[in-house]
Amino acid sequence: MFGWTGVFLKVNLSKNKAVAETYDANLALNFIGGRGFAAKILWDQLEPGIDPLSPENKLIFAAGPLTGLGLPNSGKLVVAAKSPLTGGYGDGNLGTHAAVFMRKAGFDAVIIEGKAKTPAVLHIKNEVAEFLDARDFWGLTSFETEAQLKAAYEKDVGVVSIGQAGENLVRFATVISQEGRSGGRPGMGAVMGSKNLKAIVFQGSEELPVAFPEELKELSADGYREILTKPNYAFWKQQGTMSTVEWSQENSALPTRNFSEGVFEEADKIGGFAMEEIKVSNRGCPFCNMTCGNVVVDSEKKESELDYENVAMLGSNIGLGNLGQVATLNRLADEFGLDAISLGNVLGFAIETSQKKLVPEKLHWGKFHVIKTLVNDIACRRGLGDLLADGVQAAAAKIGQGSEEWAMHVKGLEVSGYDCHAAPGMALSYATNSIGAHHKDAWVIGWEVKSERETYSDEKVDKVIELQLMRGGIFEYLTLCRLPQASLGFEVEWYPKFLHAATGTDLTWTALNYIADRILTLIRAFWIREYGKNWTYEIDAPPMRWFREPLTKGPMKGSTLDSAKFVTMLQNYYKKRGWDERGIPKKATLSKLGVSNVAKELNKYVKLS
Ligand code: SF4
Repeated sequence: MFGWTGVFLKVNLSKNKAVAETYDANLALNFIGGRGFAAKILWDQLEPGIDPLSPENKLIFAAGPLTGLGLPNSGKLVVAAKSPLTGGYGDGNLGTHAAVFMRKAGFDAVIIEGKAKTPAVLHIKNEVAEFLDARDFWGLTSFETEAQLKAAYEKDVGVVSIGQAGENLVRFATVISQEGRSGGRPGMGAVMGSKNLKAIVFQGSEELPVAFPEELKELSADGYREILTKPNYAFWKQQGTMSTVEWSQENSALPTRNFSEGVFEEADKIGGFAMEEIKVSNRGCPFCNMTCGNVVVDSEKKESELDYENVAMLGSNIGLGNLGQVATLNRLADEFGLDAISLGNVLGFAIETSQKKLVPEKLHWGKFHVIKTLVNDIACRRGLGDLLADGVQAAAAKIGQGSEEWAMHVKGLEVSGYDCHAAPGMALSYATNSIGAHHKDAWVIGWEVKSERETYSDEKVDKVIELQLMRGGIFEYLTLCRLPQASLGFEVEWYPKFLHAATGTDLTWTALNYIADRILTLIRAFWIREYGKNWTYEIDAPPMRWFREPLTKGPMKGSTLDSAKFVTMLQNYYKKRGWDERGIPKKATLSKLGVSNVAKELNKYVKLS
């Protein structure tokens, strides 16, 4: 095979055993890499119903056939497992040298099961894996862990690690790399912690097999050049995704005080231009010439890497209008290995619950010092922090007294940074996303506000599906960053060419979409197998608040989602995906996508149409 190494590393931490296994070429052609490999491995190899924090869960690091080849925005990997936050499929991507060196060490994926007896670090170098004692690392932040490991192994090394949140099994703990690259929102860091695995160090110097090396080199150079010509390039380098704060404010989509409003009176203090005043540099993933991480100096004079999501969630969503302090909370999230989106969400939930006097703790919107203490308590599972460490769905279930009404999640994953009172398409995107309420797969709101915004149209459903297949499918299985296409308009025609040069395959954009559909449908099957007879279309539901409490401010004042219209739109979505009225893929759909064997297995759990 060209492009792929054709080898997975299977690690059992209980037995201190690592075995390199070759895999079939058909797996590569049908599932490509990244999210595709992760979904297929979890479907085939994970026992349904296992506890996600037990040794039986499998933690997968998977890259794509373009990773490590020097193409634009190709330094990413996907980390996946059964999620301890949602009980369904969980994953996330992160841009890191670890992706590059995993491939150069000879592996397309590393699959980790079992649990180390004492804290361990896994060191993988050129097809050899060793298990190191990490007791001295336990209790360190992710930044400290990576710095010490890098000092020990010197250059040409990629590290992924967890902070204290992963160790303490916070259910929205992530995996961290390079001081700010964070991946695996639905608790992938907790899965790593449950295995007593503090970090993985990747080193590799093997040549990756490429079908047409000259073509690849030329395409790569042309691709980088093309990105530089995009009209928005200069402004992007200035602000990255941070200009979205102003955009969201203008469009009544900026999550404010636990998603009760879409505009924030101090938005200008936390927006892109305010960020420029404290910015010191850009940081980003390997092989990227449009680096989007805005490094700023925070209120404690330390560096913190900002983007829109973490500022919206740790700023307006908790009523905090001081960007230096927002940056401090964000740095703490990265050090502890907490997902900043879910963190902003549980904080917003906690403040609102406190204001309604349903918990004894006194919390107020925008009060930095108390909130900072609470962030520490969440990472260390102390007091109220312990309750919040299980996520808003679990916290609301325990607190009760109607608090479910302001628990902002879908399937247990907290909502990303876009208010949907007046955005039914974005609400559909959240409701049907592969991991819960995440924005990356189909950021349809950017298109939606320019069309007939509050409609539930057929066209909107088509747009959600188109984006999900492209960004949640193709980019996630190739493990390429979506932002060149999504934010600068880098043309999709580049991607089949990249793939051809690397692998020799001739897959058209249509063929790539077909593979994406297969993978996303398999992920859907995974969720349904886990939920079994409890599965209903009502699981694909946006938070109640958006239906029941109209916006009271801003240009969209008075807006709410319409429940009956939303259900009709959801049913339309199912129909177009070839799913039945419960949202379960039909036998014919699975067969059309070349996974009839999935139908046979799934039929044991729910009756298929
Ligand atoms: S645009 Fe940002 S997220 Fe994408 S590859 Fe570059 S630095 Fe990473």
